[in-house]
Amino acid sequence: MAYEKVDVTIIGAGVIGLAVAAEVAEEGRKTYILEKNIRFGMETSSRNSEVIHAGIYYPRNSLKAETCVLGNILLYNLAETQAIAHKKTGKLIVATDATEEKVLEELIERGIQNGVGGLVILSREELKQLEPKVRGVAALLSPSTGIIDSHALMRYLVSKSQGRGAVISYISKVIGIEKVSEGYIVAIEEENFSFVTRVLINCAGLNSDRIAEIAGVNVDKVGYRLHYCKGEYFSVSDSKGRLIRRLIYPVPQSDDTGLGVHVTLNLQGEMRLGPNTRYVDEIDYGVDESQRQPFYEAVVKLLPFIQPDDLQPEIAGIRPKLQEPGTGFRDFVIHHEADKGLE
Ligand SMILES: Cc1cc2nc3c(=O)[nH]c(=O)nc-3n(C[C@H](O)[C@H](O)[C@H](O)COP(=O)(O)OP(=O)(O)OC[C@H]3O[C@@H](n4cnc5c(N)ncnc54)[C@H](O)[C@@H]3O)c2cc1C
Repeated sequence: MAYEKVDVTIIGAGVIGLAVAAEVAEEGRKTYILEKNIRFGMETSSRNSEVIHAGIYYPRNSLKAETCVLGNILLYNLAETQAIAHKKTGKLIVATDATEEKVLEELIERGIQNGVGGLVILSREELKQLEPKVRGVAALLSPSTGIIDSHALMRYLVSKSQGRGAVISYISKVIGIEKVSEGYIVAIEEENFSFVTRVLINCAGLNSDRIAEIAGVNVDKVGYRLHYCKGEYFSVSDSKGRLIRRLIYPVPQSDDTGLGVHVTLNLQGEMRLGPNTRYVDEIDYGVDESQRQPFYEAVVKLLPFIQPDDLQPEIAGIRPKLQEPGTGFRDFVIHHEADKGLE
């Protein structure tokens, strides 16, 4: 059978697949992006806090630290040159007692070692001056943390990819991958259509371990099984939703799964609480109303003006994590894995 020939195929039109496409597409290189949904960015890339992180928490010398610190600079540059809406709000990690205050010292040291610029510890009085409505005994200020319009970022990446000749095909769910001498035969469910691609790039987010399995990788053996970790958000009623100007975080807990329920802002200055971290077995984006009380309790220590009735269930997202419940930090991997039998 004669198959259509493609140079590069990217599975998934989330922010990662689109960013990869914007880099690799070029004239003379036939590039396809296959997306199972009707539009780009309908999954994790539109269900998150839109925070441009600084790189404070990650272990020293990890790829997560290195790429986050560099990515912070690159993302602001891109947003500025391409007029993608964003704001360098700054972020405060707020300690509520002396024990937490000690953790701030560890965090600032780690952040400085990671190369994060401008970090400074604020006294109670200095915190009051910056954020009069926030309660705490001290805080770590990260001036390079901010927020970005993730949809505008993805729109830019779509337009750059298409401008360089990439073709995005929606409602195109990859269901088959077969290794052949010229590359991979890729089968799409909806059209009962197959083609051959020289290079195949898996950016399928929550499904990326399944895509690897379809391609013949034993993900359990090589340690790349994903675990779903849900994060829910509650919005804050209008009357109180604009009383802070920076992102407000608690001191992180030691279990390493999340940053603790925190307070983020959108580009309109509206406040949102979350996300929490709960391992789940299935993809279900509902927000559990019974989380209102734990959210309130987590946040009232920092924002004493909040009442439970101010919180309304908003959205949820799901993180695909290599880290299993109760296990430690897992770094990114950038590596040729012939030693794992992965060609
Ligand atoms: C609650 C939460 C908060 C977060 N907050 C932040 C934050 O503040 N800052 C930050 O930088 N990051 C944050 N993140 C992480 C960030 O959202 C993700 O790293 C990013 O969106 C991942 O993008 P992606 O392209 O890998 O995945 P996705 O956006 O999930 O894209 C994968 C795409 O692949 C498609 N796909 C899957 N299977 C197939 C198939 N078989 N065929 C075709 N297409 C397929 C899916 O439909 C999807 O569109 C957060 C994540 C969560 C869950």
